[in-house]
Amino acid sequence: MRSYVVENFTERLVTREQPPLEPTGTEVIVRVAGSGVCHTDLHLQDGFYDLGGGKRLRLADRGILPPLTLGHEIAGTLERVGPDAPIAPSDWDKTYIVYPWLGCGTCAPCLDGDEQLCATPNSIGVARPGGYADECLVPHPRYLVDATGIDPTLGATYACSGLTAYSALRKVTADRERDVLLIIGLGGVGYSGLLIARALGYERIVVADIDPQKRTMAQELDGITALDPGDPTALTVLAELGGVASAVDFVGTTRTVEFGLAALRKGGACIVVGLFGGDVTIPLPPLVQRSTTLRGSYVGTLQELVELVELVKRGDLPPLPVEALPLDAANDALTRLRAGRVSGRLVLVAGRDTAGEAS
Ligand SMILES: [Zn+2]
Ligand SMILES: [Zn+2]
Repeated sequence: MRSYVVENFTERLVTREQPPLEPTGTEVIVRVAGSGVCHTDLHLQDGFYDLGGGKRLRLADRGILPPLTLGHEIAGTLERVGPDAPIAPSDWDKTYIVYPWLGCGTCAPCLDGDEQLCATPNSIGVARPGGYADECLVPHPRYLVDATGIDPTLGATYACSGLTAYSALRKVTADRERDVLLIIGLGGVGYSGLLIARALGYERIVVADIDPQKRTMAQELDGITALDPGDPTALTVLAELGGVASAVDFVGTTRTVEFGLAALRKGGACIVVGLFGGDVTIPLPPLVQRSTTLRGSYVGTLQELVELVELVKRGDLPPLPVEALPLDAANDALTRLRAGRVSGRLVLVAGRDTAGEAS
């Protein structure tokens, strides 16, 4: 089986060939039908996150070291299963999305169902081998979410970009009819967040993006107000709407978080999802007096992925644009993402060569 691997940080991925994976115990092997290409993959290739002020969060300091098989947005089918894996005969006919945010399974967050917040994460495509490969090992079938009927090229993207947006929107406490919900940044995850917010029934949604094309795209949906956060009147417009009850920042820079906080009404909450990088300084008395909440939201829970897939199956969530590329174009996909030359989500499809033919 083939996989595409970071052998040294900052370098191009290397192709590896190895014998098929052999599952033991409860392990299952998923034949990868689609593997989404995420911004996190660029950080994994680089080996760090930017913390602002010239500081870096080095992955090596967190025990994440090459070789790394990237790919945490995986959809596919069962290929082989270990002797103790609880699998029914009908499960072989299903298409699955793999929940990749694995923890230790025994700490308090894991026992609460928040494996993505485990102190010793063991995520697929981050700490353990992921989906830039023909096959992927999953330790237990409970991490497989039944997505039968959903195109795996699209379905793969729900494991990270979709789930990240969904989980952030589930943390919003605003009233769906009365309150203003502000969505900052309409990249892939932010646009997905906008569609999810509509599917969840939020009626007063304002979006903010510096890109006029993205604002126009959002305004093509009914009832969406779009603002340029760089426009000096943007905060006035939001204040005239009654102020923002919840802001979800899908960018995560100093400027976007400052904008989100400045837009909040008293009692409002700013939820930061984007990992672009930077820092903010917050004057404390107004934090107290205005009872402001600033919180982060990192990917999502297995239960939230199940809920999101249900939302998709009910037809409440329009599909996001995805572009399928053959698995052996993994390096090109990363290069394009790094250069910003991507309109929808890029998804690697195994079993096809660069000519697009079955192999
Ligand atoms: Zn991701
Ligand atoms: Zn844990």
